[in-house]
Amino acid sequence: MTTTAPATPHLRGLDPLALHEEVLPQIEALSLVRGKPIIVSDCDEVLMQFIAGLELYLETQGLWLDLQSFALTGNIKRRDTGEALPASEMPALMQGFFASSTHSLIPVPGAAKALTALSNRAQVVVLTNVSFSEKETRVRNLAAHGMAYPVIANKGLKGGAVKRLAEIVEAPVVFLDDIPHNLASVAAAHAPTHRVHFIADQRLAKLLGPSEHSHFHTTDWAKAHDFISARLEEDGF
Ligand SMILES: [Mg+2]
Repeated sequence: MTTTAPATPHLRGLDPLALHEEVLPQIEALSLVRGKPIIVSDCDEVLMQFIAGLELYLETQGLWLDLQSFALTGNIKRRDTGEALPASEMPALMQGFFASSTHSLIPVPGAAKALTALSNRAQVVVLTNVSFSEKETRVRNLAAHGMAYPVIANKGLKGGAVKRLAEIVEAPVVFLDDIPHNLASVAAAHAPTHRVHFIADQRLAKLLGPSEHSHFHTTDWAKAHDFISARLEEDGF
């Protein structure tokens, strides 16, 4: 979920292989095992309940989320007047939200358990578009909820980062994200990736059908676990 996620993933001339200059060094610094599968998971709305946390924050700002579509811009409204917050105010609002709430987001049920179970056969990294300044807070929050995995603070599409990770591990790759254009960029950048379209929030999941660039669509970590486990087994792990 971003402020401007389109319902249909048009990469609009964006390079699916783009890799932000601050992202590559984070990848190169990881201790990854060559030959062992890798699960690359988004955080917001996959491991942590982003929408639920955002709604708590909006309450403190006299705002609420009127989920009419898979987008934040236009759907965040003032409690008193009912007016939608203008797009120009969204960056500051989201910055305020992440600064105040990254440490306290609540995990998606079953995420930690599923990843722990899969860790026998795969290494796990979290690829999240959190701001670089909030990265360590995100690391601590995930660890506090049983998900002490390396975190890469990404910027932009995720295809470039996933491709680089795939080159390093030379093994099967699983990717989970809620945002269609991230799935599309990974499909373009590293086609063999097993792609899971995961949206924790049931309302959002209903607003947005399965991404055409995903192999599996779910709101449930037990089901995601079974899908990933089956793919790893097929791949010989
Ligand atoms: Mg997300």
